[in-house]
Amino acid sequence: MGKVLVIGAGGVGSVAVHKMAMNADIFTEITLASRTVSKCDAIAKSVKERTGVTVPTHAIDADDVDATTALIKQVGPDLVVNLALPYQDLSIMDACLNAGVHYMDTANYEPKDVARFEYHWQWAYQDRFKEAGLMALLGSGFDPGVTSVFAMWLKKHKLKTIRTLDILDCNGGDHGQAFATNFNPEINIREVTAPARHWENGEFVETPAMGVKQQFDFEEVGPKNMYMMYHEELESLARFLPEMERGRFWMTFGDEYIKHLTVLQNVGMTRIDPVMYNGQEIIPLQFLKAVLPEPSSLGETTKGKTNIGDIATGEALDGSGEKTFYIKNICDHEDAYEETGNQAVSYTTGVPAMIGAAMILTGTWTGDGVFNMEQFDPDPFMDMLNKHGLPWKVEELDGPLPF
Ligand code: NDP
Repeated sequence: MGKVLVIGAGGVGSVAVHKMAMNADIFTEITLASRTVSKCDAIAKSVKERTGVTVPTHAIDADDVDATTALIKQVGPDLVVNLALPYQDLSIMDACLNAGVHYMDTANYEPKDVARFEYHWQWAYQDRFKEAGLMALLGSGFDPGVTSVFAMWLKKHKLKTIRTLDILDCNGGDHGQAFATNFNPEINIREVTAPARHWENGEFVETPAMGVKQQFDFEEVGPKNMYMMYHEELESLARFLPEMERGRFWMTFGDEYIKHLTVLQNVGMTRIDPVMYNGQEIIPLQFLKAVLPEPSSLGETTKGKTNIGDIATGEALDGSGEKTFYIKNICDHEDAYEETGNQAVSYTTGVPAMIGAAMILTGTWTGDGVFNMEQFDPDPFMDMLNKHGLPWKVEELDGPLPF
């Protein structure tokens, strides 16, 4: 049905390419390109062994717009799926415009020198994509991605309005390491050390990083400490759910993780400004990434489950007054590893990336311009989640979170 070029050969790229190959009726040709071609080749080998599908590979520096444009023209895909790092979003969007191809990603653009997670850089491409008759779909991972689709499903089927929304992201997995991050360490640490921001009464309210902590009992995981932090879907949800009075995002972290992160921060290892070392400029956080375990290496040892979902409160569609619903997916690290050779954090991002790409290639979600997940019918996406490894469930709660 369509030809896809995936850029980025990390854990998320690996899961997405495996899942695309398992859906060869939709993804008739899959090409994988990344900075280090040996990583593409290793994924292609695993895909061939598991599915029989051949995935051609290429080396590409996606910061180089001309080289990326040339590669897209050479491969001739219908869609480019960007699973490299957020830093590459704008250069790959430019290359897609040059080559006349649709674009999709899982994380919003971030400049390298400031940890700012905002959509405005990518929303600014609206006119260019619209005039070119092309579609750019932003943030088709789990969070952002599924969390927004969950909210829109609740708004379509359960609630007339969403007054308050809490997104709860729990990773109950244990990888057996003293300190490691479950996805790219540089991106992960920039995210958790940034100030927390939540949406309240029409504006973002900023609080110190990791300053608000609560305990929550997660199904199939147990009680965990979770911390309020900023996450990019709050910006698009605030835009597409204008009635939302309060929107918050919570993520669980173990005490060991917090202890290590605090020390690393205190000694300056999480800095993203250059420092001179032995006559050479280095960025401490990039050096730290080089000494931490590769997230993709954690798959084999990680046990436990992820549990990510939305708790939404608002006026019920059936006129029965204010109601609260909790919608979530629970994913097992070991099952994810068995299916694709990657742990659940990569799996829960790579599967929605495959589904978002399928929405575009099958013409289920169409449009000219730059789009967020909230702008489309959630039902076909939710159906595919159930069929492709991320089943979800919804329950009614007595009321919103008590804090
Ligand atoms: P990894 O760091 O494991 O993989 C990133 C890949 O991109 C690597 O193969 C890397 O190459 C490649 N890359 C980096 N820079 C370039 C470049 N200039 N040109 C070409 N390729 C490049 O990250 P993940 O797989 O964990 O994450 C991938 C994306 O998914 C990230 O944007 C991340 O923020 C996002 N994400 C989204 C989530 C969601 O729920 N929405 C959750 C988790 C992640 P090399 O191997 O050479 O370094």
